[in-house]
Amino acid sequence: MQLLEGKKILILGIANHRSIAWGIAQACINAGAQIAVTYQSERLKVNVEKVTKDLEGVTLLPCDVSKDEELEALFSHLKETWGHLDGLVHSIAFANRDDLKGGFTDTSRDGFALANDISAYSLVTLAKHARPLMQERGGSIICMSYLGGERVFKNYNMMGVAKAALEMSAKYLAADLGPHQIRVNIVSPGPIRTLAAAGVSGFASILDHVSETAPLRRNISQEEVGKVGVFLLSDLSSGVTAETIHVDAGFHAIGM
Ligand code: NAD
Repeated sequence: MQLLEGKKILILGIANHRSIAWGIAQACINAGAQIAVTYQSERLKVNVEKVTKDLEGVTLLPCDVSKDEELEALFSHLKETWGHLDGLVHSIAFANRDDLKGGFTDTSRDGFALANDISAYSLVTLAKHARPLMQERGGSIICMSYLGGERVFKNYNMMGVAKAALEMSAKYLAADLGPHQIRVNIVSPGPIRTLAAAGVSGFASILDHVSETAPLRRNISQEEVGKVGVFLLSDLSSGVTAETIHVDAGFHAIGM
């Protein structure tokens, strides 16, 4: 039996073939899951259709997490068609480009609120919507963070603060939802070239630094994040919640 056989998993955050969410989606399918994926906008729908076109039985649904009506529609569709949900993957982040460079002191009130809303609060509202679909059988929710939410990285600025909020939100959700056997865990990948990463000023130098200094002396791939995603979404991790797993070639352990 495959690790995710019979499991229904909702994946948010595919923008194109480089997205971490796409790496997780492929790993989930290879592990036997049935998946539904969302797209943020009509513009990105084309990309998501393109990457998923050869997969059988994948449901595509719109969801901009800043729009309550789209969240409502997404979960009522899943309730009607699937009846329950076994897993949810949150692989979403956004901050204004100006808040991903220069001095953190210059972060605007609106930029601070926007990054936290899209990148962290979205996990809370998604978990709230998922709970009724998960609570009878238990479930697993995972989100993507970054080491910049634990330590200071040049230019990561507002996204680092949003990741800290995301990680603590995941832990409070784990405590809240644990009695329903709903687990909430955090994956913290190392740097990967994606659309979102391109918005962080000086991103290429982070990739170089990791490949020179991480214990494995290389960067990691979407596929490697996908494998950890499958572990956390499967019963192999049934006793694991409120945990952070770094998939960063060991970089998080290195001091000087
Ligand atoms: P990506 O650009 O492929 O994915 C980001 C996704 O966020 C996109 O699909 C985008 O549509 C979605 N999104 C943004 N605003 C949204 C909104 N309002 N509603 C719905 N969706 C919205 O980039 P990625 O690197 O795959 O990012 C996925 C996650 O991984 C993010 O949380 C990111 O912070 C995290 N992460 C990325 C890296 C990296 O180096 N690439 C490292 C660690 C963590």
